[in-house]
Amino acid sequence: MTIQIPAIAYRERIGRFLSADPGRLLIDGRWLEPVGGQTLPTVDPATGAHLADIARADPADIDRAVTAARAALGGEWATMTPADRGALLWRIADLMQEHLDDLAELETLDQGKNLRTSRFGEVPAAINQFRYYAGWPTRILGQTIPTSLSRTPPGKQVLAYTRREPVGVVAAIVPWNSPLIMAAMKLAPALAAGCTVVLKPAENTSLTALYLGRLLQEAGVPDGVVNIVTGLGAETGQALAEHPGVDKIAFTGSTAVGKQLVRTAAADLKRCTLELGGKSPALVMPDADLGAAVEGIARGIFDNGGQVCVASARVYAHRSVYRDVVDGMAAFGERLRLGHGLDAGADLGPLVSQTQAQRVAAFIEEGRADGATVVSGGELTGPAGTFYSPTVVTDVRADMRLMREEVFGPVAVVTPFDDVDEVIGWANDSQYGLAASVWTEGLSHAHRLAARIQAGTVWVNCHSFLGPELPKGGHKESGWGYENGAQGLENYLETKTVVALV
Ligand code: NAD
Repeated sequence: MTIQIPAIAYRERIGRFLSADPGRLLIDGRWLEPVGGQTLPTVDPATGAHLADIARADPADIDRAVTAARAALGGEWATMTPADRGALLWRIADLMQEHLDDLAELETLDQGKNLRTSRFGEVPAAINQFRYYAGWPTRILGQTIPTSLSRTPPGKQVLAYTRREPVGVVAAIVPWNSPLIMAAMKLAPALAAGCTVVLKPAENTSLTALYLGRLLQEAGVPDGVVNIVTGLGAETGQALAEHPGVDKIAFTGSTAVGKQLVRTAAADLKRCTLELGGKSPALVMPDADLGAAVEGIARGIFDNGGQVCVASARVYAHRSVYRDVVDGMAAFGERLRLGHGLDAGADLGPLVSQTQAQRVAAFIEEGRADGATVVSGGELTGPAGTFYSPTVVTDVRADMRLMREEVFGPVAVVTPFDDVDEVIGWANDSQYGLAASVWTEGLSHAHRLAARIQAGTVWVNCHSFLGPELPKGGHKESGWGYENGAQGLENYLETKTVVALV
C-alpha cells in the first residue's frame, strides 16, 4: 500500500509559532531557554520532516519551575475569588475556541491524527474540560459537622467544620496519544481547585501544550500558576516527580511508568493519581444490533490508530455472530484510507513515531509466529515507516501477548464465545480494568453484564464515549483515582477539619 503525502502548507499562525522558537520553557510567566541549552527535535510523524526543536529541561529547570509554582500558591492566585477563578477558566476556553483551527492543525502535525479528529473531536473536547470545570470553583464546599464530644465544658459548644483546600503544587505528566485533551484534563480541575501546576507534555507531542501556554497567559493566568516544561520522561519527567516541592503527581501514561512513579512518590508520600494502560474488551451478544456493534467497535479500535487508552482491543463475539463481526470489522478497516492527517481525503493518520509503529508490527509478527490468523491489515508502510493498516486478528490464545498486553495500535483481536459466564471470565482475565463495552438489545441483560465487568467505565451499545462530566479511571493496574466530574476535582483538594470551642 502506498501512502500519498500532499504538499503541506501550514496555517500562517502555525508557521509563525513554529519559527518563533518553541524551544523555551514557560516558567513564572516568562519563556526561558533551558539552563543547559539543550533541545530535542520534534517531527511530523507522517513524513519524518522536522517541525521544531523543543527544550530539553534538566533538573535545574525543574527546580525553577517548581519554585515558581510554590511561590504562586501564595500570591494573587490564593486570594482570587472563586467566581474570578471560574471566569478565568471560561476565558481560557474562549481563547482556545478562537484558536481552534490552529490548535487542531498543530495537534495533527505533531501527533499525526486525522484533522477531522483534532478539529471536531479532540480540541473541542479539551475546550469543554475548561468549560466544565469553570463551573466548579464556586461550588467547592466544606461541611459543618454536629459533634457529640464528651469533653465539651458546660456552657460551651463545639463548632466543627471542614475546609477544602488546594493540594498545592501539581506535577502533571501526560502522554502523546491525545496531547491537548490530556493536558486539559489535568489543568482544568487543578486550576478550579486553586492548585498551581508544572505540566510536562510527552517529548514527541509537546507543541499544543506550548501553544496553550501562550493562551493561558493571554487569558490572564497569573505568573507561575501554570509552568510548562518539555523534555524526556526519564530525565525531565523523573526530575519533576522527584522534586520535594511537588505535592501531587497527576500522571497519565503507561502502567510501567505509573508503577515507577508510585515508588518515586513513596519517598515523601506525594499524592498520586494514575491513569494508565488498558486492554479493553467489547462483548457482542447474539441479540446485538450488529451493524451498530461492528461500526462502534471498529471505530473504538481504529480511531487515532488505536492509540487510545480505552480502545476496544479485545472483541468477544457470540459464536452465532462471530463471522459477521470478524468480516464486518475487517471490511470497515479496509475501507479506511491511510494518509497524512492534513489530507482531507484520508481517514487515518500515521502512528505517533517509527518506534511505536515498529512495536505494533512486532506484536503482529509474534502473534503470527504463535499461530494467530491476520484476517486483514497487518502492514507497516509510509515514507517514514509510521503507518500501520487497521488489523483484525483471530485465533489468539488467552496466554499470548497479543491478548494480554496493550498494543496501542489499530489491532483488534476477535474471539468467539458460547456462554455468558465464560465470556465474563475472559473479559475480566486481565491485569487491566480500564473500560469495556457490551452490545445487546436486552436492556436488563446489559446492566447485569455491566455490573459484572471489572472496569472503570462500561459502555452499553457504544464505545469510547467520554466527557468532562463522566468520571473516568482504571480498576486494577489501569490506575489509581478518577478524572473528570466531581471525583476528578477531589484529586486536587485536601480536607482540613477545624474544631473550635466557642
Ligand atoms: P509513557 O508512560 O511512556 O509516558 C507518559 C508520560 O510520562 C510522558 O510525558 C513521558 O515523557 C513521561 N515519563 C516517561 N518516563 C517517566 C519517568 N520515569 N518519570 C516521569 N515521567 C516519565 O506513556 P506513553 O507511551 O506516552 O503513552 C501511552 C500510554 O498512556 C498507554 O499505556 C496508554 O494506555 C496510556 N494512557 C492512559 C490513559 C488513561 O486515561 N488511562 C489515557 C491516555 C493514555
